[in-house]
Amino acid sequence: MLCSPSSQPERYVGRFAPTPSGYLHFGSLIAALASYLDARAAGGRWLLRMEDLDPPREMPGAQQAIVETLQRYGFEWDGEMLRQSERHDAYDAAIERLLDEGLAYACTCSRKQLEGHHGLYPGFCRDAGHSLRDAAIRLRVPDRAYAFSDRVQGEFRQHLGREVGDFVIRRRDGLIAYQLAVVLDDAWQGVTDVVRGADLLDSTPRQLYLQELLGLSQPRYLHLPLIIQPDGHKLGKRYRSPPLQPHEASPLLLRALRALGQRPVTELDGALPAEILHWAVAHWDAGLIPRTPTLAEAQLR
Ligand code: GLU
Ligand code: ZN
Repeated sequence: MLCSPSSQPERYVGRFAPTPSGYLHFGSLIAALASYLDARAAGGRWLLRMEDLDPPREMPGAQQAIVETLQRYGFEWDGEMLRQSERHDAYDAAIERLLDEGLAYACTCSRKQLEGHHGLYPGFCRDAGHSLRDAAIRLRVPDRAYAFSDRVQGEFRQHLGREVGDFVIRRRDGLIAYQLAVVLDDAWQGVTDVVRGADLLDSTPRQLYLQELLGLSQPRYLHLPLIIQPDGHKLGKRYRSPPLQPHEASPLLLRALRALGQRPVTELDGALPAEILHWAVAHWDAGLIPRTPTLAEAQLR
């Protein structure tokens, strides 16, 4: 077996990072499929990470169901699945460091106090020196824009001071914020390429900022177009299409490929999931992914 020197970063490591607040749906299939194909077509690894940081919002049985659905749909990931619930030491260490460096601070504002500020934190606790007890922890954001070049969406820029404001990295109840966990885990797992839904596009500048603060390298990003439902709602956290059914694996994989701009040949109709994925890896062209949603109702299900 060929071993590359460990000082050499791997060329491509991708991942799929579902949240077990519900079953996988068509929108999740798009993210799983695109991240998988992009990794495999590059000869890279593809990892599975369960983002189970919010036990009260977790749906009982969802983790198991997600894993089984991925298997039924023909996906094979490298190594053991990582659970974010096992990573609390790493999150705590990072928070400690950000606090020590004066980059983060305790915030005791109530929801009511923050009303009427359009979601932008008004900075009440920035220099208050509150104790950490019973407080959320917020990260100071700089008065500047963060920009990156997305492989599908192109240039994306957001001014953290004006558009986002100091944001919470640990809630008052101890819950670790997604923004912090995702950055630490992607770096820890050596992820070079993040492929995910465009609903997370406007989280990315916060993640770039965290990477900079924590001295982590920045992955490449590819944000997938969101699927629009017939009623105009985006598929995603709030509006989901029905859970993926095992017996629909092949037709839904073909539909997901078409939604990603790929052109599966008619010979694949009726093929097994593994055969469809095999073809799709060999023919993957990320350049065909549409930038904006193009799905009509008939294509959705
Ligand atoms: N866990 C997130 C979700 O299910 C995805 C996180 C990511 O891909 O960065 O929406
Ligand atoms: Zn506050």
